[in-house]
Formats: sequence, structure tokens, C-alpha cells
Amino acid sequence: MRIRANNPSPMTLTGTNTYVITSADDTTAALIDPGPELTQHREKFLAELGDRKLSAIILTHQHADHSEMLGSVEQWAPEVPVYAVLEKFGRLTPPVADGDMIAFGTDTADVMEVIATPGHTMDSICLIHGHVLYSGDTVLGEGTTIVTHPEGSLRDYLNSLDRLLQLLDEGAYSIFEPAHGPSIESPAQVLEYYRSHRLERIEQVRAALAQGATSATDVCDIVYHDVDPSVRGAAEQIVRAQLAYLGVLAPDDQS
Ligand SMILES: [Zn+2]
Repeated sequence: MRIRANNPSPMTLTGTNTYVITSADDTTAALIDPGPELTQHREKFLAELGDRKLSAIILTHQHADHSEMLGSVEQWAPEVPVYAVLEKFGRLTPPVADGDMIAFGTDTADVMEVIATPGHTMDSICLIHGHVLYSGDTVLGEGTTIVTHPEGSLRDYLNSLDRLLQLLDEGAYSIFEPAHGPSIESPAQVLEYYRSHRLERIEQVRAALAQGATSATDVCDIVYHDVDPSVRGAAEQIVRAQLAYLGVLAPDDQS
């Protein structure tokens, strides 16, 4: 079950998706990304939970539009473990890592497999349950994911896309449920598009450097000249990630 928070923006698309995943016997559930601290959103996902026992809260990555609601977790789920890569978000359980199996019910099928997919942020994970891959911000329902420097890494991100493609080939999942936007029923196509889109941008950055651009600002003026001023700052951070990938990020251009 998907519950969308009312926090639309250029960065969150229509809003952050929170997922309630129920156990085989329908008595317990896991919650993926509690989302922004909005009372109405919390009421919605708690209503969706109903009488089921919440047995796991899982965070796909640190960004506030996914994690902020954890600030009040003592009030709405005081005894529920929070599974996260970063220790500061985890609670009542050790930090999660690639390959972990998070049990949220008594049936053998009631597990979430953790797939580490660093890139959008270094702590990004995806979760697989029942042939569905919950992709967090690693793959979005619309548009492409933002990879910025120094929070993320383009090299890690491209490796993570390869990993997801490999898991798809192995039949580990067949659909994406992203943290923003609608379901993706053609994961192969989207992963290919993401990869080619990145490589195309990297070529544009190379071309801008060849034209004499020397800073992230210069490159941004050329490659992202058409972006809305409200996302210009993000565009510059993206360029820094691209320059870092190409190994040409000047030390004084790090942030
Ligand atoms: Zn994010």
C-alpha cells in the first residue's frame, strides 16, 4: 500500500511515497520511509496499518523528506525497531548493510532483503520483497535521480544501476516501487534510460571542459543553462558530482 505525503516540490515530484507492506497472515507490517513530519501523513499511514502490529520501520536514505517523521517516532511507534544504514537514524537494532534480511512477520516470506545502492546518497538502499523492488530515490517514478557532490557519487551510482540490472536479469524482482512518483513496470527500460542519460550528461560536461569551462559554475552555465533558477543550486551540485567522476573537480570547487 502506497501513501503519498503532501509535500510536492521540484525535488519530491508529487510527494514522498510511504509504503506499508503487510505480512502473509496480514497481522503485522513493515513501513518503508515514514516521510516528512506532517500530521495528516502520519494519520494516513497509521490508518492504513489499522490493527496490524508494526514490526519494522525501514529508511531508504537520510533525506528529510523520507526521514523527518522519525523525529517523533517515540510518540507513534515507541517499540518498533528502525532499520537504517546510518547509526543516527537506527533504533533498537544495529545499522543495516547489504544482504541483510529484515523479518517483519512469522512467515518465511515476510522479509525485506537489503540491497546497498550508494550513489544518490552514500547511505541509499533498495529493498526487495515478493518480486517488488522498493527503490527509494535510486530510481524514481518520473524523471531521473539527482546525484550531487559531495553527498553522492556518480561512480557509485552507475555501479548501483548495474547491480539493479543484474538482479533484474537474475529474476530477483520485476517491478519498481519508487519513493516518488508511480510504479515502474518496465525496470529494464528505465535502468537503460538512466544509464544513457548519465553518460550523455557526462559527455556534455566533457565538451564544456573542452570549450574552456574551468569551474562548476562555468560548466553549469553551458550544460544546465535552461534550468529553473529555483533548482540552479542543485544543478551546480550535480555538475560537481560529474566533475568528481571525471577526476577534474578542483579542490577549491568542492562544495
Ligand atoms: Zn533523496
